[in-house]
Amino acid sequence: MTTTDTVTDTTIPFFPPDLFEADRDVLLDVVREVATDPAQRFILGERTARFEEVLRADLGSADVIACGSGTTALTLVLRAMGVTAGDEVIVPAFGCAPLANTVLGVGATPVFADIDPHTLVIDPDAAEALVTPRTKALMPAHVFSVMADMPRLRALATRHGLRLIEDSAVAQGAVLEGRPAGTWGDAGVFSFVQVKSFGGPGEGGVVVTGDLELARTVRMLRNHGQDGTHRFRHHLIGLNSRFDEILAAFQLRRHPGLAGRLARRAEIAAHYTERFTPLAAHGVVPPPPGTDGRCYYVYTLLAERRDDLKRHLAAHGVESHVYYPHPLPHQPAFAAAAPDGHWPHAERAARQCLSLPVYPHLTDAQVERITEAVLSFPT
Ligand SMILES: *Cc1c(COP(=O)(O)O)cnc(C)c1O
Repeated sequence: MTTTDTVTDTTIPFFPPDLFEADRDVLLDVVREVATDPAQRFILGERTARFEEVLRADLGSADVIACGSGTTALTLVLRAMGVTAGDEVIVPAFGCAPLANTVLGVGATPVFADIDPHTLVIDPDAAEALVTPRTKALMPAHVFSVMADMPRLRALATRHGLRLIEDSAVAQGAVLEGRPAGTWGDAGVFSFVQVKSFGGPGEGGVVVTGDLELARTVRMLRNHGQDGTHRFRHHLIGLNSRFDEILAAFQLRRHPGLAGRLARRAEIAAHYTERFTPLAAHGVVPPPPGTDGRCYYVYTLLAERRDDLKRHLAAHGVESHVYYPHPLPHQPAFAAAAPDGHWPHAERAARQCLSLPVYPHLTDAQVERITEAVLSFPT
């Protein structure tokens, strides 16, 4: 066997192919259960309703509406709030495409605010400077390890009469100042796409809101504007963003283990941060320590020589990943919405960010190998 083979054989993947291996029997079980159920309901049935109820109980008071994905959850919220052509929505300049394309999709304009250089979440001062009479909503996102500064963003939204949409797609289970992610905004969202912390084998999302009128509207919009009682009576121009019963059954079965898996992610992240803190003086900066308002969907370092670090890790059998290589306003699809502007912190984050594996079934030995690989990067 060559050295290369050895490295390949033992490489720690960033996207683990065995994500659902421990739950394979559960998956086969729920497929059989739903497939043989005399009710033959495959979408929006009683399993979806129970799943919504379980998440509602996690969060306390808010309503939870299951839908087709985290992206359509944002679209449903924007539509339910009446955000439309001529409106502006302030979003972070660094993050994933749905922050911009859902706003453009309802005909409104995303206005990109720069981010905090260390936590990588939207900078509330930068956001406030962009408020105009056309601003309808503020849509911050929690990024990888750190929740956005929701107390200040909530105050900002209140001060200017804006709706606050919390993109909490990566932060399910996180808590800031005693208040769960998803419940800080007028509405929040979670995503269950495979790679997310509570990902499943397929697509799905939820809208979370304490605004009962908004919840009622979202519930109608997700199923072609029908009210759930009168079939084929379309009160609103809706869309198809429904939830799958097999996914609901699977998520119900895995939900009891979620807190433990999130705790394991947090434990791994705390270990990384403790060991990497001395590297900050040498151009490799870990996310801020602490536990309040932290979520570990992804663990992201900022490295001055990011591409060198990535190569170094690969040579040591550790896969890493760049989330995200370009700021949103530099994307060909969104640049027209942001003809001028400069987002120095978002641009630097795109150049320096590098994410390490942080999934809960990493063994302690693997965590140590990843840690040592980063620490051995020549500085
Ligand atoms: C994943 C993600 C989404 C979209 O969720 P999907 O279920 O993939 O549509 C939205 N916002 C953020 C911040 C995300 O990470």
